[in-house]
Amino acid sequence: MTSPRHAEATALGRYYTHPITAESLISVTNVLSVGCAKPALVPWAAKIVAEHSWDLLPRMAGALRAKDCGAGPKRDQACGRCRDCLTRELKGEVTVARDKASDLGTRVHHLAEQHVLGVEVAEQEGDDVARQYLAQYLAFLEGWGVDLEHDVEAVEVTVANPRLGYAGTLDLIIRLPLDGFVAGQKVQPLPDGKKSLWLVDLKTSETRAATSVYGEYALQLAALRFASEVWLPDDTTAPMVKGITGAAVLNLRRRTFELVPLPTGKAEFDAFQGSLALSKWMHSTGHDINGGTYRPITRTGAVKPKRGATTRKAA
Ligand SMILES: [Zn+2]
Repeated sequence: MTSPRHAEATALGRYYTHPITAESLISVTNVLSVGCAKPALVPWAAKIVAEHSWDLLPRMAGALRAKDCGAGPKRDQACGRCRDCLTRELKGEVTVARDKASDLGTRVHHLAEQHVLGVEVAEQEGDDVARQYLAQYLAFLEGWGVDLEHDVEAVEVTVANPRLGYAGTLDLIIRLPLDGFVAGQKVQPLPDGKKSLWLVDLKTSETRAATSVYGEYALQLAALRFASEVWLPDDTTAPMVKGITGAAVLNLRRRTFELVPLPTGKAEFDAFQGSLALSKWMHSTGHDINGGTYRPITRTGAVKPKRGATTRKAA
């Protein structure tokens, strides 16, 4: 997966580096991955492995009588026939499926961005599927009367709130013929060809219904909406776009799309900041708070040394 400019994949997830101050800012999606549980993930992983095991069944049957080859985690030496190798292959299928979904999402975002910018994109493998998503994106732009020349305020731009310590990349700020969105109120069409600014995030999925959204999307949109600055291509910054009246997720699927407005008020921004505080604490202590800092003690309060600590030092 490619990273936006100034973004870096660290052991603690994505962080941005401020183009002027060089401050390290945690990414919005990183914050949400720390703070929001993903209950759908475990059943999803179970399904991927269960389905893939049917593909491997003939080899698994053979492995019942084969001896383990001893390759262990060394992939290039895997025999692919023993129980140990097949177990690793099955477990690895979850990563394969996740990377595939992530690559498709990245590609669709890229095609969508280049379309808005009016740039032709050379065909690459997998584009037969990606272009089905793009067709749905074009159907949205056309259906909502978006004029690429006048209605696009920003596309694929990194925004940040250095005071709070986060940054993120938004997909789109466009003018729509709708008055905006406040939770509990009906979205009204604007009269006389008037338009207002919407923050829109594209979401792709091969499996989820186009009508479905996760609660954390509202926090993501609120974080982006309440960013204080925009990072420009020449490494300067500008104040955040003013006057956004609504935020929505544009769910793109192969054969359909749905625009789902979400609340991005004080409650959502407060919740995001709660998750931000949690993330900062988790990342400063490490996910494993016991990772060496905190040790068991004896009844006299003496700290028990790590087993093998001295021998390792000697070696
Ligand atoms: Zn093997």
